[in-house]
Amino acid sequence: MKRLAMTVLTIIFICTFFFSISYKTTKKESEWLVHDVSRLFPVQVKEILKGEEEHAIIAAVKKANDQNIPVSIAGKRHSQGGHIFYRDALLLDMTSYNKILDFNEKEKTIRVQSGATWADIQQHVNPYGLSVKVMQSSNIFTVGGSLSVNAHGRDVRYGPLIETVNSFRLLKADGEIIEVSRTKEPELFSLVIGGYGLFGVILDVELQLTNNTLLETEHHHLAYTEYVEYVKRTVLADSAYHLHIARLSTAPSSFLTDMYAINYKQIQSAVPKEYLALPEEKWVRRNKFLFGLARKYDWGKELLWNIQGKLYAEEESAVLSRNNAMRPDIQFLDYTSEQDTDILQEYFIPMDAFVPFVNDLRSIFNKHDLNVFNVTVRYVPKNTEAALSYSTDEMLALVPIFNHGFNTNDIETIKKATKEMVDAVQKYKGTYYLTYQLYPTSGQMKAVYPKANEFFAKKKQWDPDERFMNQFYERYGRDDET
Ligand SMILES: Cc1cc2nc3c(=O)[nH]c(=O)nc-3n(C[C@H](O)[C@H](O)[C@H](O)COP(=O)(O)OP(=O)(O)OC[C@H]3O[C@@H](n4cnc5c(N)ncnc54)[C@H](O)[C@@H]3O)c2cc1C
Repeated sequence: MKRLAMTVLTIIFICTFFFSISYKTTKKESEWLVHDVSRLFPVQVKEILKGEEEHAIIAAVKKANDQNIPVSIAGKRHSQGGHIFYRDALLLDMTSYNKILDFNEKEKTIRVQSGATWADIQQHVNPYGLSVKVMQSSNIFTVGGSLSVNAHGRDVRYGPLIETVNSFRLLKADGEIIEVSRTKEPELFSLVIGGYGLFGVILDVELQLTNNTLLETEHHHLAYTEYVEYVKRTVLADSAYHLHIARLSTAPSSFLTDMYAINYKQIQSAVPKEYLALPEEKWVRRNKFLFGLARKYDWGKELLWNIQGKLYAEEESAVLSRNNAMRPDIQFLDYTSEQDTDILQEYFIPMDAFVPFVNDLRSIFNKHDLNVFNVTVRYVPKNTEAALSYSTDEMLALVPIFNHGFNTNDIETIKKATKEMVDAVQKYKGTYYLTYQLYPTSGQMKAVYPKANEFFAKKKQWDPDERFMNQFYERYGRDDET
């Protein structure tokens, strides 16, 4: 019976897939028309330069200065708020500038070029029993892009990435290269990390590492009203809990009320040989298929929620290394339909405001009939080292993924809804992640980030010709709205 149901679902999905393909347009992008992973709002740049060698990056900034051309900087292009692009700019693509420069096993530090990804670092340090301290839930992002948004991850013992950065070298707008750390150039340390590429090119970075440990997963099914107490009394109360993530249901029958929490507890301080290998990600096709159904149909959302619960429960006693737990490369989220796209957003809420905020979110999602098919929740401790810090309190971070069409109506709807979500965030003294769309008003952005005006004033001080430009800066840094 189960097999029959799966066969029927497979046929429906394949039909849906071909139906969407048959509607593909023949729109051809020019070589210099670029977009981020959301594929919304493409931008025509003047030129793209692959920053493979340091001298080429220095020469590019010099050329831009001589010819008065703006410069923007791209890693893996997963930020979705125009932070990577600017019209008619010289775009520095940093992804080939990715060497490991230095590794100190004893001190547990590594220095890498900024285009290196977390995957590159994991491959290098895994044989030495070491691991990255803080990174996103996935390993596909560049170190430079991650520093520039001050990313956070799932290890409840650490806050945002800035906590684990010892120093970096920065190529400034005037062509000078300087070493930046908490003691040398402390102002730039807090401006550049989480500074969205506006103060110069991060060339290389020294990061702290930690031990690769052996973890065991456990899974709990709970109501959203129980979650905060659960995190406090379970996840944060026992130092064996290292990684934690939770999901809120997007199935209509339990919409934003049902939750699963997945924890990774340390069971050994070192990883035995048989758990050391870093195999390819499993279940990519299966997960892509299930997410495809959830994206399109309400019954798909019910199915995904039930299957996720069952699979996680089965994996309850899975034992794996920290490096493997921190490796999902999220290929299953790759989506290329020409009719519609997926976008992420992230809202950080002080722990005790979680329940009322989820209630507000539910009302906003329902009011605008938003197609939300995934919501994850993470814990982020307080850290305010970065000028534009989002972790201004001990926070729970909610990450919804929405699917919507490329048409104006759909974009206007999500814009309107986003402003309401940011209003809700403000009500509870939370923040939102600047790495996503530019939909919040300038007034909202500056209310949530009270140091924004100071940050933009410093930008003009360090880069008076506004050599490093992007749409995020144009939207919020160049207007006088308060
Ligand atoms: C599916 C998905 C999952 C995600 N998961 C998480 C998560 O778990 N946790 C989290 O915190 N975030 C998460 N994010 C957000 C992600 O961390 C950011 O989008 C991050 O910037 C991605 O890195 P990137 O290499 O794509 O950088 P890009 O998007 O290419 O660049 C981001 C910013 O960095 C600047 N930049 C890039 N390289 C340099 C450099 N060398 N010097 C100076 N500036 C530079 C760019 O100009 C831009 O302003 C996720 C995003 C997506 C789409």
